[in-house]
Amino acid sequence: MPLERILVLATGNPAKVREIRAVLKDLPLKVLSLADLPSVAEPEETGATFADNARAKALYYARATGRWCLADDSGLIVDSLGGEPGVHSARYAADELPAGSPRAVIDAANNRKLLRELAEVEDARRTARFVCHLAMADPQRIVVEATGMIEGRIGHVPAGQNGFGYDPLFLVDDLGRTTAQLESEHKNSISHRGKATREFAEKLRRMLSGSPQGD
Ligand code: IMP
Repeated sequence: MPLERILVLATGNPAKVREIRAVLKDLPLKVLSLADLPSVAEPEETGATFADNARAKALYYARATGRWCLADDSGLIVDSLGGEPGVHSARYAADELPAGSPRAVIDAANNRKLLRELAEVEDARRTARFVCHLAMADPQRIVVEATGMIEGRIGHVPAGQNGFGYDPLFLVDDLGRTTAQLESEHKNSISHRGKATREFAEKLRRMLSGSPQGD
């Protein structure tokens, strides 16, 4: 198989690997994850935007593995907080927790902090969106990119058991339910990550079949 027919998913998150594999399944491409390759140290995420972080990660792993690599960066933008937690979403409340705390503990602390920050903010100004940026690189450059968003509002109390991160607080516009109250298939069909992944798959499909990517 030529070098460019293997794509490495630069994520250690098995749920993301499953989700992306499912969308890419019909492409003439072998999809590997970092778990299939000799381990590579994780790069630091220091970018000011999701796109910066996704591009830097994709290039870093493409150079480390010599393969096409697909990286993502995502998070929550809250308008009345000037866009925070934004690129700090994963570690928004990190300074309130011991290093190495489990994911569920981190998520709960992030959600508590978000509710505290919004305590005085009325419903109309609790608008927010999840954003996901995907970037695929070869060892020289970024080759394909895609972005997805989902609009919503931050609730006042957590609701729902599904998903992860800020899902229990993210009320989807027009649904009146949080993303933690949706089945995973439903969430994928409307989510920032689902949209970005489908757009990415379509661009990659066109590229592999030799036609221009056409943004
Ligand atoms: P990462 O892109 O996996 O690093 O995600 C960054 C952080 O954004 C996660 O740790 C969550 O806190 C938040 N986030 C990203 N996507 C979602 C989502 O679909 N639901 C809930 N939180 C999310």
